[in-house]
Amino acid sequence: MKRKPDCLFCKIIAGEIPSYKVYEDEKIYAFLDISQGTRGHTLIVPKAHADSIYDLEEAHAAALFALVPKLSNQLKRAFNPIGINLISNNEQPYQTVGHFHLHLLPRYEGDGLTLSMVNRQSDYDQQAYVEVLDTIKAAQ
Ligand code: AMP
Ligand code: ZN
Repeated sequence: MKRKPDCLFCKIIAGEIPSYKVYEDEKIYAFLDISQGTRGHTLIVPKAHADSIYDLEEAHAAALFALVPKLSNQLKRAFNPIGINLISNNEQPYQTVGHFHLHLLPRYEGDGLTLSMVNRQSDYDQQAYVEVLDTIKAAQ
């Protein structure tokens, strides 16, 4: 299994640092986020080290995302949240642990978290959308 020296999550996966394990298989490890931003806050990580989404192998991404509905439903049954956010911070400005991870963050009425999108649709006309699209396509 690919490891990075001094990586916190590699150490957790190897059992060198304790964690509250939610799930484990050959490729994936899931454990409680120590911060418990909300009750049941869980992290899913590939066992093979990847710094971020940019270097996550497709097969590891597939194994990880295949588990998301199952674990989300498990959290739903366990805690009856009103919803769940799937969040992954990659590089700046928010990634604090350099081993790719997906947060499963159950949401509750009045949980005090503010994670909201901004609607900038009024800044975009058709040409502006096409420009964005062309830029993405050119980067394939
Ligand atoms: P991010 O800030 O998106 O990179 O997420 C990193 C997450 O790792 C944070 O939510 C931390 O609370 C969590 N974390 C840091 N150390 C530990 C640990 N030893 N066990 C469980 N979660 C941790
Ligand atoms: Zn690692």
